[in-house]
Amino acid sequence: MAKNKPVAIAIHGGAGTILKANMTPELEKAYHAELEEALKAGHKVLKKGGSSVEAVQAAIVIMEDSPLFNAGKGAVFTHQKTNELDASIMEGKTLNAGAISNVSHIKNPIKLAALVMTESRHVMLSGEGAEQFAQSQSVEMVKPEYFYTDRRWQQLQKVLKEDPDASKLSEDKDDKYASTSHQQPSQVSTASDKVWPDDKKFGTVGAVALDQDGNLAAGTSTGGLTNKKFGRVGDSPIIGAGTYADNESCAISATGHGEYFIRAAVAHDVCARVKYKGIKLQAASDEVILDKLVKMEGQGGVVGMTPQGEAVFSFNSKGMYRGYVDAEGKIYTAIYEE
Ligand code: ASP
Repeated sequence: MAKNKPVAIAIHGGAGTILKANMTPELEKAYHAELEEALKAGHKVLKKGGSSVEAVQAAIVIMEDSPLFNAGKGAVFTHQKTNELDASIMEGKTLNAGAISNVSHIKNPIKLAALVMTESRHVMLSGEGAEQFAQSQSVEMVKPEYFYTDRRWQQLQKVLKEDPDASKLSEDKDDKYASTSHQQPSQVSTASDKVWPDDKKFGTVGAVALDQDGNLAAGTSTGGLTNKKFGRVGDSPIIGAGTYADNESCAISATGHGEYFIRAAVAHDVCARVKYKGIKLQAASDEVILDKLVKMEGQGGVVGMTPQGEAVFSFNSKGMYRGYVDAEGKIYTAIYEE
């Protein structure tokens, strides 16, 4: 039964060098539409009296299923031409959290992260172990080829050309794209910069929400960084770096160059500044993103939410795919700096 207390949700679809000058109207429209769909899905859950954890999942699943974002279906390629996905989720009431890293067969990593939180005794599971746990929970598994998209493949080829390690490391004994029905790099039409204007962006997705019981939640899901090596894990599945939620301060989901976000403990630091300095969430987010991170030369941003349901955005890059639903249920989406 709906309780009719205020609810709120805000999302991001990655930050980075996103310039209007390079964007086609069609692609811009597609991004706005996908952000809107994700917001609607999360907001619907909240209006029905669902929890903020459920709403965060619902919004993120839409973006994971879209090839536009670097999460789920649209995940970037590693150096070894695989896709290794990370995700995390946290509940502000209990400080319960769940995270997974380095999975390659999970259609919706955010769902698995939520199951780690509710159905396991652990906070973070990785690689094969995480996938075994997924099987025990009847989570939807997919073949690695599910994550192949032309755009991400081209991104990898571009980056490999400039990677001095390429010849040393890229020998892939089990190159699944060498003999499958997928197009080979030479046959694939090269996506022009006009079509994909944001190759230097961090396309992770995330959501923060407040439910009718006054509980906050945050979640983040990513494919990581193109050409990542050696089982690299970024900030997105790290509680306190890419994701944090505490009813006493705020909920945060981050996107950006994970190595910096881990070192700066971004998500927790924002909430800690709210809690201990008694400053507003916008000010706390700006201190971390526009000052601390800029000094460290780390690029990216956050979406945050107060316990009253105010959505906050802060990013030090040219743009961040983002949006929120206001108290009247009106949806706002944006891409560039304003
Ligand atoms: N933060 C992610 C990572 O470093 C990347 C992103 O935000 O797109 O793995």
